[in-house]
Amino acid sequence: MEVPVLGPVILAASRSDQMRRFVSAAPGTKQVVDRFIAGETVDQVVPIVVDAADKGLEVTLDVVGEDITTREQSHAARDAYLELIDRLKDLGLGTKAEMSVKLSMFGQALEGGHELALANVRPVVEAAAAIGTTVTLDAEDHTTLDSMFAIHEELRKDFPQTGCVIQAYLFRTEDDARRLAANGSRVRIVKGAYKEPASVAYQDKAETDKAYVRILKILMEGSGYPMIGSHDPRLIAITQELARRAGRKLDEYEFQMLYGIRSDEHLRLAAEGHRMRVYTAYGTDWYGYFMRRLAEKPANLLFFGRSILTK
Ligand code: FAD
Repeated sequence: MEVPVLGPVILAASRSDQMRRFVSAAPGTKQVVDRFIAGETVDQVVPIVVDAADKGLEVTLDVVGEDITTREQSHAARDAYLELIDRLKDLGLGTKAEMSVKLSMFGQALEGGHELALANVRPVVEAAAAIGTTVTLDAEDHTTLDSMFAIHEELRKDFPQTGCVIQAYLFRTEDDARRLAANGSRVRIVKGAYKEPASVAYQDKAETDKAYVRILKILMEGSGYPMIGSHDPRLIAITQELARRAGRKLDEYEFQMLYGIRSDEHLRLAAEGHRMRVYTAYGTDWYGYFMRRLAEKPANLLFFGRSILTK
């Protein structure tokens, strides 16, 4: 969730090439990046999946790299996911790990991008299904969402377990939730991490939180599978209460949190018998993902600033 003053500034910087070069080259950056990014390669992320499984956690794996500019890069993104799925298959980890994908990385913003993204994501969803797991389509900025939901609907015709993400800060989301809370549909609800204009999104954190609760109710009372993406202790407690009221068993919804954030809470909820899935990002093109994590919490920025200055 973005912070009132610094958040939008950092999110604007996340789109700047000049800033990208500065941040990537700054001494001390890596130390902070390592908190949020699980590694650069499949080899580095696999032990993290194994470790999570040993601790009773599940994961959703995100190969970072949303800022692509060519069709070749979009194919490379598809291939990176296919390589990952192959490795999970070899290790018998298919049921412990699902995949999260950003359609921008699969070419959605390029010319003919809707078709290109669908053509790239389909083999990934097929390969995931073949090893007993699935894919969730992340939600990016609001201009991409009609295309994302259309691709989600298309994929669900053959792979009904394909998930998608909805963002509480957008005015449209309660309607989306009503449409999606049906037929076992897997829906991750998050607050929203992009810089959005006042014409489409709440700018006030408290308004977003209230909307989150309204949307949670819709998802819990529907017949889909809600995935609660948040670290907010209040929302976690409300989720548990709403699930109880809706008569949902512990395996009829799940919590999701980000790698590197409130890790003690991951273990606590898993120990209580909840399904807990850790969103684990890895890869070399971490800039956009990293900047969104900085924007969510001012203390991260202070820590980042200090680590640059002390190097
Ligand atoms: P907040 O009120 O922001 O945070 C609650 C508490 O959590 C904070 O007080 C702090 O203790 C801790 N915390 C939260 N963020 C951080 C941080 N960066 N660093 C350190 N501590 C932190 N957004 C999208 O727009 N699209 C997506 O597809 C998407 N997928 C996501 C998947 C998962 C599993 C999760 C957990 C989040 C995802 N997000 C996505 C990000 C989301 O929109 C929020 O920006 C993010 O989760 C912060 O909101 P929060 O609910 O944790 O609440």
